[in-house]
Amino acid sequence: MPDSKTKYIFVTGGVTSSLGKGIISASLAKLLQARGFSVTIQKLDPYINVDPGTLNPYEHGECFVTDDGAETDLDLGHYERFLDSKTSQANNVTTGRIYQHVINKEREGAYLGKTVQVIPHITDEIKRRIRILGKTGDYDFVITEIGGTVGDIESLPYIEAVRQLKWDPEVNCIVIHLTLVPYLSTSGELKTKPTQHSVKQLQESGVQADILVLRTEHSIPDDVKRKVALFCNISPDAVIESANAETIYEVPLLMQAEKLDQVVLKKLGMEINADPEINEWKAFLKRFKNPKRTVHIGLIGKYIELKDSYISIHESIIHAGAKGETEVKIDWIHSESLKEENVAEKLKNLDGILVAPGFGERGIEGKIAAVKYARENKVPFMGICLGMQCAVIEFGRNVLGLKDAHTTEINKDTKNPVIFLMEEQKTITDKGGTMRLGAYECRLSENSIAKRAYGKELITERHRHRFEFNNKYLKDYESNGMKATGVNPEGGMVEIVEVEDHPWFVGVQFHPEYSSTVLNPHPLFVEFVAATAKSKS
Ligand code: GLN
Repeated sequence: MPDSKTKYIFVTGGVTSSLGKGIISASLAKLLQARGFSVTIQKLDPYINVDPGTLNPYEHGECFVTDDGAETDLDLGHYERFLDSKTSQANNVTTGRIYQHVINKEREGAYLGKTVQVIPHITDEIKRRIRILGKTGDYDFVITEIGGTVGDIESLPYIEAVRQLKWDPEVNCIVIHLTLVPYLSTSGELKTKPTQHSVKQLQESGVQADILVLRTEHSIPDDVKRKVALFCNISPDAVIESANAETIYEVPLLMQAEKLDQVVLKKLGMEINADPEINEWKAFLKRFKNPKRTVHIGLIGKYIELKDSYISIHESIIHAGAKGETEVKIDWIHSESLKEENVAEKLKNLDGILVAPGFGERGIEGKIAAVKYARENKVPFMGICLGMQCAVIEFGRNVLGLKDAHTTEINKDTKNPVIFLMEEQKTITDKGGTMRLGAYECRLSENSIAKRAYGKELITERHRHRFEFNNKYLKDYESNGMKATGVNPEGGMVEIVEVEDHPWFVGVQFHPEYSSTVLNPHPLFVEFVAATAKSKS
């Protein structure tokens, strides 16, 4: 299918990293979507890992998972949360994946004896990946965020691909360049030189930005904007200010006020129709900013030094809180700091406890201690993936009396492997992309918290794990009060456990946090937050 109907918008970054290209891309996408266009966002990551699945969260934060089982950059989570639509394998591409594809083709002999080079072979493959989404015919706009900072060696092939696409008569595209305008408090001035240099750097690679988005902590006066426009070959209306926002969800409104969407349409030669329709979004923000109550939820994890490691959980809690007009204060608690002896003291002020996903031994006993505290003290509890597995281990040890109950991920030789390696994982040796990944069905039991929350029997949720509940123990668990209330219809894997005689105790093997969006908060998070508010009152 040709992609002539699709317009491409590239988003590059200059001066520093962490300027929020992902949020600007998602905000622009939201505004275009609110004008009735279909939009998707893609992230190109210049690192050599084939995907971020093998990365430690301290490196790049959370690994997001799509329905079709791609392990991706966390920005895809923002895209889904803003647009309320799903991304897929095609929405995240790394240099590693590009090279892997080209090298495989070379081994197959597909280049017919040619020398395989960065230009044209790597750049052709980058361009192909960019246009895959346009060629589906599903989108009016494909926004492609280019990771890294202009000037990085790794980014060069991507910038070159953008340069080529800008000159391709078949492709209608523009470039938005995001930079930082720092404020020097000693002289009381906003400085535009880094922006000028960064735009020049882009020009050296043959790419002229069409729109500049200036990240700033202070409002930028018009004369400074005009100066930037003049020095950077940009029309004055296309210099957009992006001030710090109270919440990321305000950025679409800030960008609308700055007319980013209108400038984009104008640059692409499109008509500017009526204003975008974002009332539901505004209603969400209103609820978020005017809560009727406050609750405290403890998030127990081992990567809490880098909050991005749990970004989807954090955002899901925000969505659910706004839905219930509840301000949720998150207490970030390091699982390594929790011991049987101090857990009551450390968790005593919480209205809810969430034990996070994770891998490996570090901090696991702290997580198990937190589960025990939540179960015994009837504090609303949600366990996600490893958090659910910890709930199963705790129940085995302290209710069933299986003192050495454990997951074989940590204790291979335990006599009571209540969590163990899934059958299909047993022969796998490679680490990358080999977990149980992506969306699987789950059937919910009548009279369960889960069934009441979802309001239906068959659900689909995303997974990312190797280990699972050992069904050999299921009867014992159920007769003692921990029920499997969600089961995979094909394989019989336990996907949800709930504890009876407890106000709200739910452990899920899947990741509900990957599918909560601003306009569709996830029902389990909504009910969890509601339970915390109830237990407080
Ligand atoms: N380490 C566990 C497993 O592989 C849990 C994974 C997770 O929490 N995402 O099964």
